[in-house]
Amino acid sequence: MANKAIILLAVLLCAQAVFGVAIVSKAQWGGRNPKSKTTLANSLAYAVIHHTAGNYCSTRDACTKELRSIQAYHMDSLGWADIGYNFLIGGDGSAYEGRGWNVLGAHATNWNSKSIGISFLGNFNNNKPTAAMISAAKGVLADAVSRGQIKSGYTLYGHRQVGSTECPGTNLWNEIRTWSNWKA
Ligand SMILES: [Zn+2]
Repeated sequence: MANKAIILLAVLLCAQAVFGVAIVSKAQWGGRNPKSKTTLANSLAYAVIHHTAGNYCSTRDACTKELRSIQAYHMDSLGWADIGYNFLIGGDGSAYEGRGWNVLGAHATNWNSKSIGISFLGNFNNNKPTAAMISAAKGVLADAVSRGQIKSGYTLYGHRQVGSTECPGTNLWNEIRTWSNWKA
């Protein structure tokens, strides 16, 4: 009986790993409330991958500090309503809430209302996305499909495909081109 219980527990834990990614909420990283919010529709056709082109972080502490700094820059220097991206991925392997689900982002001119924006913390011309970061990003994308934020047949783009920028950095660009929903 004990063995059966252990097997059942293992199956449940695996199922949880497959179907969801734990997203660190804005409250958990000490983020500020948005100045305003605009609704982002469901069933979007696109997801856009970015890098922040800033500091890489590999611990929860360093990543939350970096998130607060980026949010302050976007809100106070650029005058935006909130941190620009819907979600961010840390070098600690965590997915972080930015504007979150169903909130219009500010990450790719002319594409914000058509896509969700996910940004990797760091400069991926030099940094390399780790297996844990890749898994966290794919988890957010899977969640986005399962909750209907993006369509199951969505197209994944790197920012450089929809704007004049080197974002998301060469190393991350080479990675996302191997993902199943990426299209040229
Ligand atoms: Zn970008």
